[in-house]
Amino acid sequence: MVDMDLKGKRVLIREDLSVPLKDGEITDDQRIRAAIPTIQAALDAGALVSVAAHLGRPKPGQFDPAFSLAPVAKRLQALIGKPVNLIQDWQTHTGAVPGQVDLWENIRYCEGEKTNDPDLAKRMAKQCDVFIMDAFATAHRAHASTCGLIEQAPVAVAGPLMKAEIDSIQAVLDNPASPVLAIVAGKKVSTKLTLLEALLYKVDQLIVGGGIANTFLAAAGHEMGASLYEEALVPKAKMLLAIAKERGVDMPLPTDVVVATSSDFYGESAEKSIAAVLPTDCILDIGVKTTAQFASMIEKAKTILWNGPVGLFEIPAYASGTKAVATAVAKSAALSIAGGGDTLAAIAQFNVAKDISIISTGGGALLSLIEGVKLPAIKSLEQKNGIKTH
Ligand code: ADP
Ligand code: MG
Repeated sequence: MVDMDLKGKRVLIREDLSVPLKDGEITDDQRIRAAIPTIQAALDAGALVSVAAHLGRPKPGQFDPAFSLAPVAKRLQALIGKPVNLIQDWQTHTGAVPGQVDLWENIRYCEGEKTNDPDLAKRMAKQCDVFIMDAFATAHRAHASTCGLIEQAPVAVAGPLMKAEIDSIQAVLDNPASPVLAIVAGKKVSTKLTLLEALLYKVDQLIVGGGIANTFLAAAGHEMGASLYEEALVPKAKMLLAIAKERGVDMPLPTDVVVATSSDFYGESAEKSIAAVLPTDCILDIGVKTTAQFASMIEKAKTILWNGPVGLFEIPAYASGTKAVATAVAKSAALSIAGGGDTLAAIAQFNVAKDISIISTGGGALLSLIEGVKLPAIKSLEQKNGIKTH
């Protein structure tokens, strides 16, 4: 797994175990499953294994049960068949025992994790002899438990899952067959929107959905009602539409949508043209015409890069757009890469995993790779070890 003897060593593995939850239950455990071979290999090598991970976006400095890794510990234990101990306070913990896994409680409860505080990273580094950075889906963020820990740990190496994900994605990106189609949707408007500019120089077609599409629709002058969008990014969206036009990138915006007619998303819904959206409406899915248009683009593409559900697919009334996109990607003969926490959940929900060429645990990290950015965690590993990691 890694090129060194781990026997008896305190090995700390950073994984991305941020899985979607509903009412405290895990709705998709692909990220946990993906992490298992690395953890198992460390156990097999006789290491004393601890795992650091985050879940969602809790407020730093306080415990919030909604973001506890307890359900993850339980699932990991069931899948790996070894005791998994959830460690509330890793700072005072004496360390793992052979044959068991210590899973540290949500690392984002720690003040300084997201700001990459070197003191926090130093305290984490004291708990290990070897740090294995294996969280591809978090490799695009310079946090204390990623870049900080790489710097501070006695030894830091890239883990096999992270390496394999980068290898397989990079192989496609180095030589993509045209037309190349990217689908970028979901709700992380501000972080994803900024990546789109780079994408416009790399793809032939771009489909936007979810809150990102709404920001573009607002830029095109449409009423957004109570829909999720980012007003401050409307000028940026206008600029991107102009770049797409200039470069001949086909970038259709939704022409019809499904809306919730009140703030109760489980209440009434209506399908309408984008021009008919009312101030009280909340756009939560694409309409049938748009769905057909997107499906036909997907069918003709040779390379497909997909991150983000195009609607609130967790609620059945707003799932059909995402279901159609997932099905079309799976049916298409294109080489397809899909990734992102909620995108994985959609892929599982619509049962299309086996027909997608590469399923990545990463959303933002996948988009960063597509953009051509060197992932911060890779940069830190290269700086520390003086060798090209990727
Ligand atoms: P990923 O985890 O795959 O990177 P995101 O976290 O960015 O994707 O977004 C996924 C979430 O976006 C899903 O929970 C989905 O319900 C939500 N979503 C998609 N479209 C909309 C929309 N129009 N309005 C509100 N939420 C949306
Ligand atoms: Mg998500």
